[in-house]
Amino acid sequence: HMATIGFIGLGHMGLPMARNLLKAGHVVQGFDLSTAAVNALATAGGVPAGSIAKVVADADIVVTMLPEGRHVRTVYLDQGGVFLSAPTSALLVDCSTIDVETARTVNAAAAARGFTMVDAPVSGGVAGAEAGTLTFMVGGTEAAFARAEPILAAMGKAVIHAGPAGNGQAAKICNNMMLGIQMISVCEAMALAMKLGLAPEKLFEISSRSSGQCWSLTSYCPVPGPVPTSPANRGYEPGFATAMMLKDLRLAQAAAQGVAASTPLGAEAYQLYNLFAASGNEGLDFSAIIKMMIGSAA
Ligand code: NAD
Repeated sequence: HMATIGFIGLGHMGLPMARNLLKAGHVVQGFDLSTAAVNALATAGGVPAGSIAKVVADADIVVTMLPEGRHVRTVYLDQGGVFLSAPTSALLVDCSTIDVETARTVNAAAAARGFTMVDAPVSGGVAGAEAGTLTFMVGGTEAAFARAEPILAAMGKAVIHAGPAGNGQAAKICNNMMLGIQMISVCEAMALAMKLGLAPEKLFEISSRSSGQCWSLTSYCPVPGPVPTSPANRGYEPGFATAMMLKDLRLAQAAAQGVAASTPLGAEAYQLYNLFAASGNEGLDFSAIIKMMIGSAA
């Protein structure tokens, strides 16, 4: 049924997600520090609001899509923030990708005030946000997940309960650590193949039907040609930017240190993406790291 949703953070991801909630028939009230973003929501049929307090005052559900943990803390905990302005009956859904520790801290603070909250980071990028085909990885109680599932289904193709609070964030950074490592492995192998006189298209043909097969090769090939939709075919315009991969690998390393997990390849992937980003490539798609392996990086 129709809900009144307070949406905070109408950026690259948040705005198209909010549009899909509007399409599903919900009332969506939006707030962002950027007036242009709030106006864009109004153009799509949403209700513009001038503050967090106004956007959440009568909300059944609050959705946040913010850059980092510190923004999430501010929006929920500060004076004039969600906890002091929303009715405790409101379901709180944070879709931002943030550190596990902040997710668990904010969730515990929500519970202490009588709110139900989930962390629900996403996979699928801007294209998935626009098409309503995101994958949501949800952390929270069974009851919280049951309340969040229908609303997330309006913005995604898969909504998966990952376990208690913070486990959505844990799933997100573990997945993206795999992705970063696997992309580097494909890029190194492609670069080696070229130097050995083996065409990358031929290695693609073979490895896509052999045990080296992975998403970074067969859905997102870092060399132009084999996968026409991959960013390599459009000058490595993202896609998923190097800066974002670096952020997620940094979160994975912070989490690993927090629990003394050994992640040597995750650490190496973080270092390599840090180096690649620092040479002016943070705006390129993360598959562009192949330039570093074939020695053509800026
Ligand atoms: P973005 O920077 O485009 O949007 C974030 C928005 O939050 C901005 O419009 C900003 O003005 C707003 N904001 C910041 N602080 C605020 C505050 N205190 N009050 C109100 N609004 C505030 O970022 P994005 O690309 O939409 O990403 C959002 C989150 O989703 C990030 O955590 C990112 O890691 C994650 N994510 C992004 C992608 C992607 O492809 N872009 C994919 C998966 C996950």
